[in-house]
Amino acid sequence: MSGSLLFSPSVNQVLGNSPLFSGVDLSSAVVDMQAWPIRDIPAGQILLSPLRDNTELLILLEGEWVVTMTANSSRPIARITPGGCVGELSILDSQRPSSHVMVTQDSRYLVIQRDALWSFITSYPVVALNLLRVMADRTREKSALLESSLGLLHEYRMRAETDTLTGLHNRNWLMEIFPQQLDLSLRIGHPVSLMLIDVDFFKKVNDTYGHTVGDQVLQHLAAIMQGNLRSTDLLARYGGEEFAVMMPATHVNKARASAERLRRRIYESPLPLADNEAITLSISIGVAECLPGWGLDDFLKASDQALYVAKNNGRNQVQCWKNPF
Ligand code: GH3
Ligand code: MG
Ligand code: MG
Repeated sequence: MSGSLLFSPSVNQVLGNSPLFSGVDLSSAVVDMQAWPIRDIPAGQILLSPLRDNTELLILLEGEWVVTMTANSSRPIARITPGGCVGELSILDSQRPSSHVMVTQDSRYLVIQRDALWSFITSYPVVALNLLRVMADRTREKSALLESSLGLLHEYRMRAETDTLTGLHNRNWLMEIFPQQLDLSLRIGHPVSLMLIDVDFFKKVNDTYGHTVGDQVLQHLAAIMQGNLRSTDLLARYGGEEFAVMMPATHVNKARASAERLRRRIYESPLPLADNEAITLSISIGVAECLPGWGLDDFLKASDQALYVAKNNGRNQVQCWKNPF
């Protein structure tokens, strides 16, 4: 800015570099800018909040502010440095501010009241364009934060629903997703089958080789199951050495064939250990097809009954639930 100094040289310098004043020749001021107040505020204060009305556009001259979504958020949407402004949105839409603005360093700022801003824009239409740019930037910053928050949320959810040992979905996930799938299948009149899988004599594996090898066995089995089921089958670790598979659009005979294939595949895939040793593993599977009116509990109970028969009959086999009536 050249010509007459509207403010002190340091203020003029900040305003000259402010995006809000880009393209404005402040030296030929048509508007009485000297009437705009300059205020000081100490660090630690809340400058703007969604809980308070705001009718001012605030331009930071010295110090630092941060914009956050919530009062105690440690993740700022934006950091405001000298030349930056806040409050523009609440002036334009006459609503309370949408974010919190915290003073993080002792600050000095210039205040443009709403009416003063309108007459300023009338004299310098380019300021309207500048304001649009400022708001577009703020919107982009907010979207980026929202996106990363959603990403975090997704990650927390994934962690809460994933079994850390096998990487399969865990029981939390099962308890949320299985009822939904069951409900959908019954509603549209599709068959749905369920497998309950239990590793045979797993305690003996732990007792003989130790818990770490036991864990490896579970990982090995989980990988085989994942690789040998259809992408539409819903597989989860149900408990210790038990797994469950919900099979949408599947009648019991088809489920039995899948279960039998899986059982054989596991029996034929021993887990190699050091010293050329290998552990041959077997599983027992109980299969049931859902009857009308069943909830997940009934369905699990039927599969468990079939599993019980498989165990009692000598293990390493598939049994289907039979209606006793
Ligand atoms: P069955 O053929 O009747 O199913 O016999 P089983 O030995 O497989 O069944 P049992 O219920 O007696 O033993 C299951 C064992 O699984 C006991 C428990 O210590 C073990 N186990 C459960 N979760 C884990 C795990 O995450 N890692 C390891 N290594 N062992 C586990
Ligand atoms: Mg068991
Ligand atoms: Mg077992």
